[in-house]
Amino acid sequence: MNSHDLLVIGAGPGGYVAAIRAAQLGMNVACIEKESRLGGTCLRVGCIPSKALLESSELYHEAQHGFERHGIKIDQMSLDLDAMMARKDTVVDSLTKGIAGLFKKNKITHYQGRGRLAGPGKVVVSSSEGEQTVTAKHILIATGSKVARLPGVEPDGERIGTSTEALCYSKPPEHLVVIGGGVIGLELGSVWRRLGSQVTVLEYLDRILPGTDAEVADAALKIFKKQGIEFHLGCRVTGAESKKKHARVTIDGRDPIECSQVLLCTGRVPMTDGLGLESIGIELDKRGRIPVGDHFKTSANGVYAVGDVIEGPMLAHKAEEEGIACVEAIATGYGHIDYNAIPSVAYTHPEIASVGRTEEQLKEAGIDYKKGKFPFLANGRAKALGQTDGFVKVLADAKTDRILGVHIIGPRAGDLIAEATAAMTFGASSEDLARTCHAHPTLPEVVKEAAMAVTTGAIHS
Ligand code: FAD
Ligand code: NAD
Repeated sequence: MNSHDLLVIGAGPGGYVAAIRAAQLGMNVACIEKESRLGGTCLRVGCIPSKALLESSELYHEAQHGFERHGIKIDQMSLDLDAMMARKDTVVDSLTKGIAGLFKKNKITHYQGRGRLAGPGKVVVSSSEGEQTVTAKHILIATGSKVARLPGVEPDGERIGTSTEALCYSKPPEHLVVIGGGVIGLELGSVWRRLGSQVTVLEYLDRILPGTDAEVADAALKIFKKQGIEFHLGCRVTGAESKKKHARVTIDGRDPIECSQVLLCTGRVPMTDGLGLESIGIELDKRGRIPVGDHFKTSANGVYAVGDVIEGPMLAHKAEEEGIACVEAIATGYGHIDYNAIPSVAYTHPEIASVGRTEEQLKEAGIDYKKGKFPFLANGRAKALGQTDGFVKVLADAKTDRILGVHIIGPRAGDLIAEATAAMTFGASSEDLARTCHAHPTLPEVVKEAAMAVTTGAIHS
């Protein structure tokens, strides 16, 4: 029977990163993955393929509608969707193979098959080749998440599907109805809108992007509407049915909508199917997550859990940080994450990024804060790029000036948020950010000016 210091179940960003760090720390590590390719949801059907398509579709849209402003004329252009999909697949392929290479380099044993806990320190791996039992001193569960189901909406992989199908439609849907105005709905809705589809987003709440700062979400809604995406807010979808030539989506108290394709993206839920948690006495919380305490310890001795399968935002970088902190704690007794400084990004156009608390959260907590805001319209680089929609907002403690949150909608917001995240991680004040010299002309100057606006005032507005 094979035995290891650490056995990781799931090779997504939580699991594979933990496995690599544990091997670097000197442990004998193995990782079990049920899919043939490593990298989890993120690499196979999530972050990476969606970003590849967002990039390609944005270029297509720019070539059609943006180049002329730069004095570039294209007489004839057309969409080769097969080539666009093939490029996306190549990007995914190279990254998944890269992880296989890193496993080899770090001498990590890779078991391909489904892992099932079978009592303390024991996991059974099932594959087409049969079953084998593996033992380990420490077991890390990093099994991620799966699409949340909506009663009455049964994905059939044809007209009614999830993000996985929306990453590989064979042609742009004539009319795509997106159920859920969260991150997936807006990212993939944007991809297909740019490639020519009519896109209608149906959102239960009276706003999009729940959890995002409301001022940012409002600005985003206006911009997406201008891009031609149709929104129905305050709209509870009750069902979707596939017909021969179309799909029909039913909505509480409103007329049904007929369309060619339905994308269900009303959230994701932890993946614990067939994991054998009962064999070691782990009970799930009300939302199906594995409860963890200090250093990601579950209620079972020697068993840990990280990533989408536990509490917190379902983000790849959150899973990675947890994976590293977990195995560092196993090896050294200490592992740390600052949950106040985990950024989140929607890769729409413009991008939307934030770190720390929103204005609504600060108000609700009764925290006195100051606010500085600066628009991209007043930034030289944004003007040169021709991308002037949006703003940066910095929120700081009214007494101490410590930065409490930074919210950005605008070009390259996903890159700009890194500076704010680093500042918050080091406990910076808005004045620290405002007094940091930023190269000119660059987009990060908008972050600096927003920080200046918190106290002394911005220069260019
Ligand atoms: P996962 O990546 O889900 O990996 C878990 C792995 O465990 C899977 O490979 C699964 O096959 C395997 N597994 C499950 N059960 C077993 C078992 N019993 N035995 C063996 N293996 C098992 N996040 C971002 O931060 N940025 C983004 O841009 C982003 N874009 C996204 C786009 C889409 C369309 C989707 C769906 C998600 C996106 N996410 C994004 C979320 C991100 O993918 C997840 O937060 C992240 O993958 C979670 O990592 P994880 O390691 O916890 O789980
Ligand atoms: P989400 O939670 O972001 O959004 C789901 C939306 O569906 C919510 O706005 C909700 O109000 C709405 N909804 C729920 N029930 C509904 C109903 N019956 N009718 C109409 N609307 C309804 O979920 P998602 O977009 O599916 O994304 C899942 C997860 O994947 C998220 O947790 C996210 O963190 C992660 N993700 C991250 C990124 C990124 O970081 N760029 C990209 C994609 C996905």
